Amino acid sequence: MKVYISADIEGVTGVTHWDEADRLKPDYNEFREQMTAEVSAACEGALLAGATEIWIKDAHASARNLIAARLPRHTHLIRGWSGHPFSMVQELDGSFHAMLMVGYHSRAGSGANPLAHTISGNIAGLKINGSYASELLMHVYTAAYVNVPLVFVSGDEGICEDATWLIPPIATVAVKRGVGDASINIHPHLAVDQIIERVQTALQDDISKCRLPLPEHFAVQITYRDHAMAHRASFFPGAVLEQPHTIGFESDDYFEVLRLFSFVL
Ligand SMILES: [Zn+2]
Repeated sequence: MKVYISADIEGVTGVTHWDEADRLKPDYNEFREQMTAEVSAACEGALLAGATEIWIKDAHASARNLIAARLPRHTHLIRGWSGHPFSMVQELDGSFHAMLMVGYHSRAGSGANPLAHTISGNIAGLKINGSYASELLMHVYTAAYVNVPLVFVSGDEGICEDATWLIPPIATVAVKRGVGDASINIHPHLAVDQIIERVQTALQDDISKCRLPLPEHFAVQITYRDHAMAHRASFFPGAVLEQPHTIGFESDDYFEVLRLFSFVL
């Protein structure tokens, strides 16, 4: 069994302030270690379930957060950004049996994480087919595009609720709840224990029930905090300026949506 893990940090246990997600700040090391512990836990659960090959995308900021030597030996670690539109799920393809997300966080416009955002702080809101989209939604559609089910997510309560609404049988570990600029967390070691157990169970279960049908058509709206960014983005082929801060884009092919995202987000 071949398993893919996409890992972010704003949904890791404890992370509450941008300094804790910034490699140039002293607060960062503690949370880089916890991110590594939670990804290792997901690997351990996958190995217990019979995974023979695990690929991990370090998908936060520089994409150079995970401490490689602490990951199990059966892993391939993707560091940095290739520029491919698959972005946080680079190298994902139909040869993988399942995808896991670790450390994922609530979307722009949500109050469920002090660090809620979608891709960057420039984006006030991103909608796909009328629904506000998280980074999870953007990348679960990519997984559906190559026919890989998302079977597990860990992160804040808000993103776990979004994932369960989208894929009811998905396994989740909610490690924290956002309250304004604060977060209420479970113990970091408990998060690790729960991730091992729920990833193992999820992968031993019938993973096909987590397959998400890909919509036949995509209508995307991106609202920027700065109207000048919307103006600039409106020149992407096919994009239109709908409001001073908002562009619209439509396609039947999700790869074209990803191409848009990689140039205008
Ligand atoms: Zn991040």
